Amino acid sequence: MSTKSKMSKEVCYNCKSSHVFVYHEGTRDDPSRRVLKCRECDLVFLDNIPSQELLNEYYKEEYRKKFNSDANKNVAEAPEDNFSNKLPIHQERFNRLEHLFQKNQSVLEIGCGSGAFLSVIKDHVKKCSGVDLNERYVQFMREKLDLTGKVYSQHVEKVKFQEKFDVICLFHVFEHIADPIAFLRHLNELLTESGFLIIEVPHVNDALVSIYESAAFKRNYFNSPHLYYYSEKTLGSISKEAGFKCEFLPLNEYGLLNHLCWILLGKPITGTRSEGRLFKLPTENVGQPGIDSVQPFFDKINQEYKIYLEKQGCFDTLISILKRYNK
Ligand SMILES: [Zn+2]
Repeated sequence: MSTKSKMSKEVCYNCKSSHVFVYHEGTRDDPSRRVLKCRECDLVFLDNIPSQELLNEYYKEEYRKKFNSDANKNVAEAPEDNFSNKLPIHQERFNRLEHLFQKNQSVLEIGCGSGAFLSVIKDHVKKCSGVDLNERYVQFMREKLDLTGKVYSQHVEKVKFQEKFDVICLFHVFEHIADPIAFLRHLNELLTESGFLIIEVPHVNDALVSIYESAAFKRNYFNSPHLYYYSEKTLGSISKEAGFKCEFLPLNEYGLLNHLCWILLGKPITGTRSEGRLFKLPTENVGQPGIDSVQPFFDKINQEYKIYLEKQGCFDTLISILKRYNK
């Protein structure tokens, strides 16, 4: 970024510095929205962050209509469809994080959607509860999922819990929170003595942003519901301010072929999310002579590529375990 880059009048949420510049013009859904970056602490954030009260109204229904699996339809996914679409993703997520869960734990997931993750962990922990602002999704969970804990349709800061939790999970939720330090301090109050948080967010040093600087990808990556774009440094700093230390687990989910499509064609690989993440050839080519025999070779390259990006710090998903500093 050149030193002549446009400055912003806003101050940094994290370090209060006024050395803030425009990092990217426009978001996927709003060309007038600007993405800012702090020169002092590197925090990347949107301009004009709304109040949490306004955001809470938006997440009740509007969000699921606008950001659904089919961007062409202004209709929220039915809870049943959302549940079955998300189930394989959450199964993979649990496989990665299984070592953090134990039979005697009470777990709360914030932003649990239609409850797919909770249903995956149900038999692995003592009790699992959830919070989501979409009432239809919450209704679905209450009626269909037979969860061991309660499900709430209020913002977590409004819920009067009768218990504390050993683990609180937020998967692609924390980047939506307007005041993350105050929010983490609130979660601190909900944890048991040895309790911890698992927070998964998109990583701002995603290779497509930080190495390849794909203009098409960046236009898609920055979106108005994502208020902050975290790195280990900035998530670590915000967590520290709220009394937590972070341990990071790097993860790169999207494959080389997906990256090449963005770089060369300016669009993601076709097919489903899970196909896009692997080094699979586009689905329309399946059945072409020779394709199947070359797939094991692609799988091998893709595995090496994933390890390479994770080592370089340019992976797409940042998973963080937050534990309290010893008092
Ligand atoms: Zn700053």
